[in-house]
Amino acid sequence: MQVGTVIKSVNYALGNLNQWMSSKKAKLPIVAFPSTAELVPEPLGLVLIISSWNFPLGLSLEPLIGAISAGNVAVLKPSELAPACSSVLAGNIHTYLDNKAVKVIQGGASVSEQLLQHKWDKIFFTGSAQVGRIVMSAAAKHLTPVTLELGGKCPAVVDSLASSWDREAAIKRILGGKFGACAGQACIAIDYILAEKTYTSTLVEQLKVATKKMFGENPKESYSVARIVNKRHFLRLKNYLDEPMVRASIVYGGSFDEDNLFIEPTILVDPPPTSAIMTEEIFGPLLPVITLSKIEDSIQFIKSRPKALTIYAFTNNETFKKRVISETSSGSVTFNDAVIQYAADTIPFGGTGESGFGKYHGKFSFDNFTHEKAVLSRSFLTDFWFRYPPWNDHKLQL
Ligand code: NAD
Repeated sequence: MQVGTVIKSVNYALGNLNQWMSSKKAKLPIVAFPSTAELVPEPLGLVLIISSWNFPLGLSLEPLIGAISAGNVAVLKPSELAPACSSVLAGNIHTYLDNKAVKVIQGGASVSEQLLQHKWDKIFFTGSAQVGRIVMSAAAKHLTPVTLELGGKCPAVVDSLASSWDREAAIKRILGGKFGACAGQACIAIDYILAEKTYTSTLVEQLKVATKKMFGENPKESYSVARIVNKRHFLRLKNYLDEPMVRASIVYGGSFDEDNLFIEPTILVDPPPTSAIMTEEIFGPLLPVITLSKIEDSIQFIKSRPKALTIYAFTNNETFKKRVISETSSGSVTFNDAVIQYAADTIPFGGTGESGFGKYHGKFSFDNFTHEKAVLSRSFLTDFWFRYPPWNDHKLQL
């Protein structure tokens, strides 16, 4: 997932860089006649990239592609919670990339805090909203522009699809976009499902059967179940499940093994809306299914919560799709699949509101690290006499 997408993005940037780097002509008003104008891409300068531990190669190198493409020099601070990947980056980047243009600095929060005290021309941050606020405050001191790639709760609205083929595909994609995506430890993992009451029991049965098929009778033995990154996050997730009303809502899974940082892929139906599992980003293999009277109620449900990085909807109802697009706000909307949008170079990736701001991938990455300089070039040939003082009645009446 990580290496493949990075290779794809490098090749895409190499194939398009000449065009991205070229100046673009712009039209001007008649008052500037005769003139020409162009937009000239200019590197921002020295950029800082701070990345998160999940997908530690991809989320470090993907922004770096944009930074280098746009002609910047960059310092990369990978996450200390993925020490193997962090040291691979630190140990290899200086060999394969220009050591004067790209540096990797390893360390945790204190190293990050020290880096943030310096003046940067751009800070690109991937991580939690909590640390995002720290990054933005530090950037404000130097008026440094920032991109914040944050997380949140990505809902998946699941309609009762008519055809069994569609249903089966939807179930696989939902589980792939939850348990398959680093055991739900992904910013674009499905956080919870919204489904109509009349369809919930069928949906849950299908989710259970497919989960068992993907991860086996004993998921602890399965090579496909990722572990939780560390004890702190393990206990955070365990605490969600330890709330009695939440525990009572478990319909599948629910087992864990602290020594191995293992949590079984778990499905819950209607945990209390005020419980931590429904108010905080889950970031783990726990999948609540929330029942609604009508599928259309999902729009109000989503609107009453912070803006998500992505809204997923599994439906063939075109009217409903239009309503999701026009009546909700999120970084992106994906219909009938999950996570796949991350691999696209032609559409921007990024959040809005609580899920962050600024966008990247493909040309959007180049633009993210570029200042588009406006260059206007006028000839001395003609002039409009009324542009200049003295201001008199004759000119004012024009
Ligand atoms: P985090 O915010 O804890 O850490 C991210 C980075 O910030 C790390 O490099 C870390 O060393 C650094 N950091 C930690 N504390 C800091 C501090 N006090 N000051 C300065 N820097 C500090 O996030 P995480 O646990 O690594 O990642 C999980 C979060 O990231 C989730 O919320 C997830 O949704 C989000 N995320 C978003 C995206 C996206 O593309 N939008 C991708 C992956 C993860």
